[in-house]
Amino acid sequence: MQAGSDSREFRLSRFLSSCVFVLSNTSSKKCKVFPGDATYPDDGTWAFVNSTTSNGGLIKTIPIGAPCYPGSEYNVYNADRCTYITNQWSNSSLHMEDPTSMMSPVFEGLTCLPPALADFSTGQGVNCTIGGYPSYVINASAVRDVQVGVNFARNTGIRLVIKNTGHDFSGKSGGAGALSIWTHHFKDIAFLPSFNDGAGYVGPAFKAGSGVQAWEIFEAASTQGLVVVGGEGRTVGVMGGYIQGGGHSPLSSIYGIAADHALSMEVVLASGEFVTASATQNSDLFWALRGGGGSTFGIVTSVIVKAHPDFPVTVTSFAFGGVDPTTSYNATWAGIRAFFTHFIDFSSAGTYSYFDVVPSPVPIFEMAPFFAPNLTIAATQAFLKPWFDTLAAAGITLAPQFNYYTNYLSAWTANFPQEVVRRDQGATGSRLFPRQNWENATLFNATFDAWKASIDAGCFAISFNFAPTLAAGGYPNNSVNPAFRNTVVHSIQSVGWAQNDTDATIEMQLNLLAERQAAWKSVSPGAGSYLGESDRAEVDFQQSFYGDFYPRLLQIKKEVDPDDVFWAKTAVGSEGWDTVTKDVYNDENGPLCRT
Ligand SMILES: Cc1cc2nc3c(=O)[nH]c(=O)nc-3n(C[C@H](O)[C@H](O)[C@H](O)COP(=O)(O)OP(=O)(O)OC[C@H]3O[C@@H](n4cnc5c(N)ncnc54)[C@H](O)[C@@H]3O)c2cc1C
Repeated sequence: MQAGSDSREFRLSRFLSSCVFVLSNTSSKKCKVFPGDATYPDDGTWAFVNSTTSNGGLIKTIPIGAPCYPGSEYNVYNADRCTYITNQWSNSSLHMEDPTSMMSPVFEGLTCLPPALADFSTGQGVNCTIGGYPSYVINASAVRDVQVGVNFARNTGIRLVIKNTGHDFSGKSGGAGALSIWTHHFKDIAFLPSFNDGAGYVGPAFKAGSGVQAWEIFEAASTQGLVVVGGEGRTVGVMGGYIQGGGHSPLSSIYGIAADHALSMEVVLASGEFVTASATQNSDLFWALRGGGGSTFGIVTSVIVKAHPDFPVTVTSFAFGGVDPTTSYNATWAGIRAFFTHFIDFSSAGTYSYFDVVPSPVPIFEMAPFFAPNLTIAATQAFLKPWFDTLAAAGITLAPQFNYYTNYLSAWTANFPQEVVRRDQGATGSRLFPRQNWENATLFNATFDAWKASIDAGCFAISFNFAPTLAAGGYPNNSVNPAFRNTVVHSIQSVGWAQNDTDATIEMQLNLLAERQAAWKSVSPGAGSYLGESDRAEVDFQQSFYGDFYPRLLQIKKEVDPDDVFWAKTAVGSEGWDTVTKDVYNDENGPLCRT
């Protein structure tokens, strides 16, 4: 035993030293070790894991909906708590504060929904089982906790997942039978007034724990008169899955992608080693971690990001179409089409449009909001006038309110209210449409027609007009999906089904999504899709999410995680495994096995 070690440390080191032996036993297994398997860790072993964490941080999962079920094995029935959970189900705070809940429970398997939200025709709402939630969670409060979890999963062959906030559209923070590392409480934020990355950047930066969320880093930056590139979503884990997958922002037209601003990351690797990845240390890993996706190369515990001087913003929000009974279908689409024709000039001016279109006999267009950094109200009005004139000519008169904010935080806070999340019955896909489609009339018409056809077919679309070019990002050398550099609109389309719809109806809706995704792809061959807001069933995900970077990303994955300790659906290197489930669509509710 080394000087300074106590007996607990000694037991831990013995535990770690069994690594090579156990690995040779598990690396060729067909499935990750699953509850019920003879080799699944017993209660005593889990108690030992708990004792090795820094704060007794091991949690045995109780599904978030369990308080609604009087007879469940969890024995936590509480009618008031159930009412609260039911009422808050679409509030992101409910899910991010729970160790295992996710904001797309549709990919958990819906095994413990609050009964008021459940689909009784398929047996939901009758009892509560663990489904696609991980079995155990290490509520990490120190790097050592992450190392304990990684080493334990690697040595035992059980599945390992990582949850930060649970925002992922595909439920990638879940995994039946898994041990989860919950990074949500890595909340430290330090201001570094003059950080030198050793590769050319000397300037203000923040070091943030990987559990830091958008509002937390924005508030910290604002107190220094600075901004950090982060998402519109208030509670998104901007130092976790968001930045590793790229991360688009209301600032994307002026600063590119969030990952372009990462200067250094601290990471626990599959080997259990804790390393720094930066331009000067482990630079291949650093390249991969900035765009190549979460849950793939390691568990990031902190990130250093650039900060930029603050600026004023003008913002406006408005709606037209089905919100006004005098507006026709044709006029609405003429107005939306006119907006599309401005995508290049709007994004070139540094603006960001967050807009959605709700399918209905006369579709509803909502600009929520138009965000114009560094523009005055008068300049923004002048800028929008050509589009508004076209709308007026089509019989659509708008009188939107314009608000001027002296800094980014106040503009962002006032205009991006906390997210409503609820993906119990639905699925999404997305596309980064290329700029070239706006530079050629034939391509533009085909693109607009394909996009419009999705709404006509009943899909709901949320889109972002921005241009996170390499120039905007400062010509970074990272693995952000190349399709981002060339896009002027990121569009997300969704299908949904009702609470008691049959499997046949669900399949019909999923087929519709597949068909519409194919139509969007057919007008943008070789472009891509954003992995952070994507289709779990994305066809050819390697090309869509990673483009030409896929071979290099896969090579790095094989080097840093040769035994696939980390796995997530559609992540780099994920094609060798898949979840085996009985549900209508692929989800996290089953063991992870080799394909
Ligand atoms: C309401 C809403 C608003 C959104 N707004 C935006 C937006 O403005 N811009 C944008 O680009 N995206 C946005 N997104 C998408 C979001 O960025 C992605 O879902 C992102 O993956 C969330 O990361 P997370 O860590 O918060 O979530 P999680 O679901 O906890 O994690 C996502 C993935 O990353 C992995 N992961 C998380 N932390 C780590 C870590 N420390 N180390 C390794 N792997 C990790 C997880 O295992 C999982 O695979 C939004 C999503 C929602 C639901």
